[in-house]
Amino acid sequence: MRFSAFFAPTLRDDPAEAEVVSHRLLLRAGFIRRVTSGVYDFLPLGLKVLRRIETVVREEMDRAGAQELLMPLVQPAELWQASGRWLKYGPELLRFHDRHDHESCLGPTHEEVICDMVARELKSYRQLPLNLYQIQTKFRDEVRPRFGLMRGREFIMKDAYSFHADEADLAREYDNMFEAYSRIFTRLGLKFRAVEADTGSIGGNVSHEFHVLADSGEDVIAHCDTCNYAANVEKARGRRSLPQQGASIVLAEVATPGASAVGDVANMLGIEADRLVKTLMYAVSGGPHDGTVVAACVRGDDEVQEIKLAHALNADGVTLADADAIKAVGGVPGFVGPQGLKAKVYADVMLQGATGLVAGANRSNAHVTGLDMARDVPDAIYHDLRNVRAGDGCPQCDGRLELSRGIEVGHVFALGRRYAEPMKVEFQDATGQRAVATMGCYGIGVSRLVAAIVEQCHDEAGIRWPVHLAPFQVSLVSLGTSEAVLLVSRQLYTALGEAGFEVLWDERNERPGVKFKDAELMGIPIKVVVGERGLAEGMVEIGLRGDKPSSLPPEDVPGWVASAMSGAAC
Ligand code: ATP
Ligand code: MG
Repeated sequence: MRFSAFFAPTLRDDPAEAEVVSHRLLLRAGFIRRVTSGVYDFLPLGLKVLRRIETVVREEMDRAGAQELLMPLVQPAELWQASGRWLKYGPELLRFHDRHDHESCLGPTHEEVICDMVARELKSYRQLPLNLYQIQTKFRDEVRPRFGLMRGREFIMKDAYSFHADEADLAREYDNMFEAYSRIFTRLGLKFRAVEADTGSIGGNVSHEFHVLADSGEDVIAHCDTCNYAANVEKARGRRSLPQQGASIVLAEVATPGASAVGDVANMLGIEADRLVKTLMYAVSGGPHDGTVVAACVRGDDEVQEIKLAHALNADGVTLADADAIKAVGGVPGFVGPQGLKAKVYADVMLQGATGLVAGANRSNAHVTGLDMARDVPDAIYHDLRNVRAGDGCPQCDGRLELSRGIEVGHVFALGRRYAEPMKVEFQDATGQRAVATMGCYGIGVSRLVAAIVEQCHDEAGIRWPVHLAPFQVSLVSLGTSEAVLLVSRQLYTALGEAGFEVLWDERNERPGVKFKDAELMGIPIKVVVGERGLAEGMVEIGLRGDKPSSLPPEDVPGWVASAMSGAAC
């Protein structure tokens, strides 16, 4: 491609809207443009990279025995009603009416559509197992779309769904997909980690997420410094050493004027924060406790992990209750304690059997001391509700947990019969009985990967694409527009093209500095520079992006590029 004709609108300055490196660089280098909140154009450069990522994903899925199909973006409400998710899935599901007043939605995921299709076709166990996948546009009306391609409303996902006659075969395929994912992210050159994950609104039993390790990641993952334990903090379990038990003494009220925050109360009473009970009130949505307000208690120096709380409640979600809701169950905002509340109390296991605690008194400007959980909150229900912290003990060995930030790029679930049952994905088993299929589902954020790769592969000057993912492998820069320079450039352009490389030939009438900067910003891994001075000695310059170039006769260039292709990672 000749640069002068190429549609790659670069920006001189950093776009104000971009908070993370990948968003900034992808906008500046002309890979993407924003259409509206969370919705982007892929410009030619962006599409080239997207296609290369898709190719890696497709090759490994095919190799693993999955078959590609393509399902629609628009999905009828009936299917979501059949699975029970039409009302359950939150406002991320964009629902609408068509001209015939049919209710539909834009697909955020495709369990319903694929179950409906497979249920019609599946007759016998002989047709199983089956693994079907697509690379397709999803729409989720995310509450906070941000970071460009990282969290869009419209985005591209690879989603696969497998169907099995029994659990053992599902477990086999789960491992097969786990390995395929590991190969995909390795081939993409990423530093990644597979972690135990919460199953979220998709449901199911076992699940792992694949995270690209990056400081800009929205997720926090906990991993052991000794063994292979790793989990999303939404799920991670950690051991902490408990403070010495206080003696079980009589409950007494103390004045704590103006002190609501844990730190203030601890200072005022001269105690450690872990002696305090932190009590948060939550409104529950979905599940058996839908619409109620519950208390969640953790040690004063711990934080409530809301996903764990939602699980303990069998709920879709929890949100902090407002002041009126807190008062309605006998609490005083800022001074809530678990004792005597007219609400169910869920407490972290680290509080089980604890005595001599300090908690809000459920009266303004007051706390109680001497709280004994068993005596004073006898109906408390104990679960692991706390966020793990760096330094916690590993649940599997004597090691310590470390925390890192991650970008979730893939997710595998052993779904079981969560969808197959209500959507009647049935077959005749080997004994002639009707049986319900068991399922797995497996997602990869293909468009998110474009951003995740940039987060790991960049420098001051721009993007550093691994050579097999780069939009062009070679930036061919002509210095000046003399006939000799253009002639050799054209010959090289043709020779490299014939050798199978994609070349961006910068023949623009621009200063050399501008040309080099653009190529570095776009992240083209190999540069070839043709200038009069070198040609006088029969040489052109060649090198990897950012390295000092060396001189080479033009006819040796394709061979040099071919050998560089095998080695140049970001
Ligand atoms: P997240 O926790 O980041 O919201 P999720 O767990 O809801 O993601 P899944 O349902 O597991 O997402 O979807 C499979 C994959 O699709 C994710 O692992 C992620 O890589 C990608 N993905 C999900 N939501 C988005 C989004 N809003 N923008 C881009 N990619 C996304
Ligand atoms: Mg997920």
